[in-house]
This record gives sequence, structure tokens and C-alpha cells, in this order.
Amino acid sequence: MSRKVYADNAATTPMSSASIKAMMECMRDSYGNPSGVHSLSQKARAIMDDARKRISACIGANPNEIFFTSNGSESDNWAIKGVAELKKDEGRHIITTSIEHHAIINSCEHLKSQGYDITYLPTDDTGLVSIESLENEIREDTILISVMMANNEVGTIQPIRELSRVARDRKILFHTDAVQTVGHIPVIVDDLGVDLLTMAGHKFGGPKGVGALYIRRGIRLPPLIHGGGQEKGMRAGPENVAAVTGMAAALEASIAEMEEEAERLTGLRDRLISGILKIPDSCLTGHPTSRLPGIASFAFQGIEGESAVLMLDYRGIQASTGSACSTGSLAASHVLDAIGVPPSLSHGSVRFSLGAVNTEEDIEAILEHMPIVVERLRSLPPLCNCGTKKK
Ligand SMILES: *Cc1c(COP(=O)(O)O)cnc(C)c1O
Repeated sequence: MSRKVYADNAATTPMSSASIKAMMECMRDSYGNPSGVHSLSQKARAIMDDARKRISACIGANPNEIFFTSNGSESDNWAIKGVAELKKDEGRHIITTSIEHHAIINSCEHLKSQGYDITYLPTDDTGLVSIESLENEIREDTILISVMMANNEVGTIQPIRELSRVARDRKILFHTDAVQTVGHIPVIVDDLGVDLLTMAGHKFGGPKGVGALYIRRGIRLPPLIHGGGQEKGMRAGPENVAAVTGMAAALEASIAEMEEEAERLTGLRDRLISGILKIPDSCLTGHPTSRLPGIASFAFQGIEGESAVLMLDYRGIQASTGSACSTGSLAASHVLDAIGVPPSLSHGSVRFSLGAVNTEEDIEAILEHMPIVVERLRSLPPLCNCGTKKK
């Protein structure tokens, strides 16, 4: 088949034309170093200031609460390790969830090796964490709670406002990884009640290589990179001016269409879900309703997710799986594990994540090919010697 269907938007999005245009102009005309004195530097600095203002407006923050980083992983690392350092004399206990992105989990594991205590909240089988379980885990020495706003694998959206209220009542800092929600559903920091928030440009039509951390004013995180005075002395090194302005353009463009786009994607997603669930021994993972407009994740009995993704790719459809046998481990996705999907199913996980580029024809194509792929894989003799398979 010749049709190309990109259904991996949760991994990264194609850049929006507004973003490409903003970057091209900036790279061509505004290459000055923002730290300098002459007019080209002033021009670059003005672009930085403007982008910071526009991005902060998009999430209801002040410009001086936005710190640019190079991606979501960097922002997550800074938030977790920065608060740990800032508060180390008040306590060394951090609460997060068992379904966070590895940028959070591995930052926490690093802190664990430095003597911090980490509690990973469990979720129910839809991927929701409960307010009660959070309340039960808070201790005298809890310094930070970090809960992702929406999960990148199964799409479940957490009740952040209610969770952050628990933190606020006890004067504990609250961070949310909002990489999957910014630009897709409303994200207003004061409504959410968060102190720190992570975003990444390439998840909403911006370029790779740029992200941001929102740090509520008054919170004095230690610098991420020591050196010159960039980002108010918090992250030294010349700013990625073009990427920053590309991120601002992308965010404004996606927010301008957010409501209609969310409705459109929800329609496509729900059609995809009902079509895919006609395949025998398949199930939807994540929450039935509190989920991102664009994400539909499934698990299929008796197939290997990675093989399905490769076969789909051969048929022009790009999707992804949570279970990667090629990494040499039998472990399925930690997220599917945490929400209680049994290994026999979670090894056959396939995520379709829809975005601006997708149309009804794309859904038709997926629904045409996926049953064939599943059937072919099921007709093969049992494989999955994952542990020994060579790449
Ligand atoms: C993609 C993603 C990240 C990491 O962001 P990068 O910009 O790819 O480093 C973190 N958290 C979530 C929920 C994500 O989807």
C-alpha cells in the first residue's frame, strides 16, 4: 500500500508550518547571541523575550516563571533533582507514581542511590492514582510530589487539581509532567495548582531540542548548568533562539485550534477503538473516558507488540509498542505492568497516537490492516525467546 499513516504522535509530532516558518526566519535573520550588546544581539534577545511571554501566556504563567531547557527529559530531571537539592535539609522523601516517564523514574532512582526515599504510588487498572493513597503516603519528611498529568502510553489523565490540593494543604511542592497535555488539552498552572510543570516543544508541533520548566515564583531551584547568566543564571549557555521561537509558534498554533482538534481527534480515536476491539482477544488499556483525545492503546493476546509494529510499518502505518523485546529483556512496559495488564497481554501492546496530520482515511487504513497483522502473527508458531534474541 502507498498510503502513509503516521500514528506515533505521542513519541513526537511532525512540526507545524507555523513553527517551521518562525524557525527559518529566525535562523536566517536573527543569528545574534542574545547575551551581546549590538543590534543583532538585541534582536535575538527580543525574540527570546517575546517567545517567553507568549509561552507563559499559554499556560497562565508569568514570563519570569518559564525556564527553557532542551527537552522534556531535562525539565523532569531538573524538577526532581533540583527540589531534592533545595529541600534536602527539610526531608528526603519523594512521592511519585509507578507509571511516570523514565525521565522521572530514573531521576528518582538516582536520588534513591543518594539516600533519598521514593514512594511509587500504585494506580488502579485504568491508570488512575487515588487521592487517598497519596494522602496515606505523605510523611513528615516528604518534600516533593510528582504526578504526570497524562500518561504517554495509555493516555490516562490524572485528577491533578485534587492531587495538588493535598500537597498544597501540607505545604509540599507539587510537580507535574505535562508533556502529553500542553497544546492538547487546557493546561493553566493556577487552575492545576502546581508549583513546577514540564513541557516539550516536539510533542505539540514544535522542534526537538527545546523544552521548558515552569517554576512558580519564589521557588529557588539550584541552577541546572553553571556558567554565564542565561535563563537568570539557572541554565548557562547560549539560548537556542530559533527552537524557542519555533516552540512558541507551535504552542500558539495548537492552542488556537485546541478545542476543535480535541473533538475531532476524540471522534477518530473512538472510531479506532470500537473497530480494533472487534479483533478477538484484544483490549483497550487506560481509562475509558479520562484519556487524551489522541491516544488509543491496545493489548492483543498471543502476539508480540514489536512484530506488530514492524508489520504495520511495512504496510505504511507507524505506531509503537510498550513492550520492546529487542532491548533484550522480557519485561513488558512498566506502565502496563503497573496497571495490572498480565504479561501474556502486555507483550502484545500497540499504541496508536493521533495528531494534526491524521484523517478518517488513516483510521480506515489502520482498521483494514490491523486485523490482518494480528491474524498473521497469531498463525505463527509461538516465538518470544525475547531474552536470547539477537538484534
Ligand atoms: C516524551 C515525554 C517525555 C520526555 O520528553 P522529551 O522531550 O522526549 O525528552 C516526558 N514525559 C512524557 C509524559 C512524555 O511523553
